[in-house]
Amino acid sequence: MTQKETQKDKFAFIEAALAQRIQKQQLRSLQPVQPIDAVQVMQRGQSQLNFSSNDYLGLAKHPALIAAAQRYTAEYGTSATASRLVTGTYEIHDQLEAKLASACGREAALLFSSGFQANSTILPILLDRHAVVLCDRLIHSSLIQGILASGARFIRYAHNDLQQLEDCLKTVSNQSYSRIMIVTETVFSMDGDQSDVAALIHLSQQYNAILYLDDAHGLGVLGQGGMGLAAHHPVDLTIGTFGKAFGAFGAFITCSQQLRDYLINCCPGFIYTTALPPAVLGAIDAALSLMPQLEAERQRLMQQAATLRTQLQQLGLDTGTSTTHIIPLIIGAEEKTLRLSQWLAAHNILATAIRPPTVAAGTARIRLALSASHTPDHLSHLIHSLKTWHG
Ligand SMILES: *Cc1c(COP(=O)(O)O)cnc(C)c1O
Repeated sequence: MTQKETQKDKFAFIEAALAQRIQKQQLRSLQPVQPIDAVQVMQRGQSQLNFSSNDYLGLAKHPALIAAAQRYTAEYGTSATASRLVTGTYEIHDQLEAKLASACGREAALLFSSGFQANSTILPILLDRHAVVLCDRLIHSSLIQGILASGARFIRYAHNDLQQLEDCLKTVSNQSYSRIMIVTETVFSMDGDQSDVAALIHLSQQYNAILYLDDAHGLGVLGQGGMGLAAHHPVDLTIGTFGKAFGAFGAFITCSQQLRDYLINCCPGFIYTTALPPAVLGAIDAALSLMPQLEAERQRLMQQAATLRTQLQQLGLDTGTSTTHIIPLIIGAEEKTLRLSQWLAAHNILATAIRPPTVAAGTARIRLALSASHTPDHLSHLIHSLKTWHG
């Protein structure tokens, strides 16, 4: 065998995996865009109205966030230069955590490099092989990674079916698990529906289960002061991300002081990684300061979403169970969904197709994510374009 053939063999599994993706028309590739303003991007030389970003409040280009990122960089440099437990904790990390805990009405907060890193590394140290996790069927991949890594027994209940959750809780509470945990989201990223936080808290208390809520899509948009649906509630651990409505990057959790101490000492995804850099902290801090003043934007966002949903339904489109600023157009067949996405792009609307395995087979969809920066004109352009589409 020549050297070249040996190399080919070594990566045959990759070739096979990619070939399978191509054959199923599921090969994904990166499509660069150039941001123009809060809702417009350039793609392949064309300006596109963006309905696919998670910048729900249009903060990613807000002057206050940009100025704070620049100010923090000038003062503290471009890097935190070490992990938090070494020399990477600056006063700005501490101050931001205190401010976050207070804004959410919780005892403590802790920053993480990303939501994915937090979920995939916190869950394994809260669970073990003798624990059981009950989770909604539609939770985010990062939560599933964390649960699988823990080795805990993993039971998924039907989406938002709290009766089924309670039935499972009854069963497992009579068995000898080391602990029971409920893991779900507040606003579901691909469906735009919400979970019943008060009922989840009640169930977790009744069955002495740890409640872990991912508020990635509620943060900034819903709840008191825009701090999410779980804020100001006795949830054991809530995670929020800054890459969405906060227009920045990174993530944080709110929890008890004791749980924070445990994570600082035992969570590898916190310990063995470089602290968030000053520019990012500046942007987050500026967004957090703005949050209480953005009530009008949040109301407009929800009103526009309600209007758009009604108009889409009047066109005979299926918006699923959405009740928020995230509105799926459930098409079903993948090929048809792709065609609609391409057709919208031809009308200068960027609305990406979401296909299996991200969503269940047969539920391929266009995920529309509204921003407070979308104007009524933007929405009528979308509706107008959809009106002329004939499958
Ligand atoms: C986006 C998202 C994450 C990941 O957060 P990042 O900070 O982008 O890594 C986690 N959970 C949910 C529900 C999300 O939507």
